[in-house]
Amino acid sequence: METKGKVKPKLQLAKIIADKRETRDTRTLRLKLSDPFDWRPGQFIMVKAEINGQTVSRAYSISSSPTRKDYLEITVKQTENPTMSKYLNEIPVGYMLAVKGPYGKFIWDETVSDKLFCLAAGSGITPFRAFMQYIIDKDLDTKFKLLYSSRYGDDVIFEKELRELSSQMKNAHYELSITRDKKGLDYVREGRINKEYLQEQLKGFEDAPVYICGSPSFIKGMIDNLLELGIPRDRIKREQWG
Ligand SMILES: Cc1cc2nc3c(=O)[nH]c(=O)nc-3n(C[C@H](O)[C@H](O)[C@H](O)COP(=O)(O)OP(=O)(O)OC[C@H]3O[C@@H](n4cnc5c(N)ncnc54)[C@H](O)[C@@H]3O)c2cc1C
Repeated sequence: METKGKVKPKLQLAKIIADKRETRDTRTLRLKLSDPFDWRPGQFIMVKAEINGQTVSRAYSISSSPTRKDYLEITVKQTENPTMSKYLNEIPVGYMLAVKGPYGKFIWDETVSDKLFCLAAGSGITPFRAFMQYIIDKDLDTKFKLLYSSRYGDDVIFEKELRELSSQMKNAHYELSITRDKKGLDYVREGRINKEYLQEQLKGFEDAPVYICGSPSFIKGMIDNLLELGIPRDRIKREQWG
């Protein structure tokens, strides 16, 4: 993996060069950095802005792979009573953002493990899109599984793209669970990711690192189940929103 060594992140401007509306409340912004840095799949940036007279700084996982070198993407879901997430869902293409990064230890290194078991809920899918793009671009044989949970069928971020990415990977398995209303999505599993389902899905991944990303309650639930199923704590990595 190419890295320039450990460079201290510094604040810089990035131009919004494109965008994509993923769902009614989620938008991907494609950024061009003025001073490009290397990052690893799973890392995040800080975005800083003046909103309603206050300086606000928030973390966003990089949702694109470092192999796609000319840009970096973040994917932002607007929360209830939002500050930065509303701003980023509305800011026009062509504007500049102040960003700083990369940060974070939620990283995966193909030289350490050729297997990857991933659990995501809601906007916690963003770093895993970067993992998938990276595995495809590097033509890796990684044995990869992604279990993604969303409340509604029309809230699924990267709905088509995840299916396309997993079909382009050599050894990937992707399953979507909808907990409330699948809204016409016919290929999905209904229900939460529970212990029985995890046990079944972990077959063949008993020795794989497990990556979890999402809300604190999702992460806690998944870790409790994994520990009960005998997965050692030191094989579990998490990135927690909020
Ligand atoms: C490492 C990391 C990576 C992340 N990556 C992503 C990502 O890829 N995509 C993404 O969408 N998000 C991501 N997040 C979450 C993101 O950083 C923000 O927390 C999110 O966008 C909400 O920010 P906001 O400014 O809109 O809302 P905030 O103003 O921070 O408010 C967030 C929530 O807290 C509540 N709240 C705020 N203030 C109070 C208060 N005083 N009392 C009670 N409740 C309050 C609000 O109602 C709101 O629902 C990530 C977080 C971390 C830590």
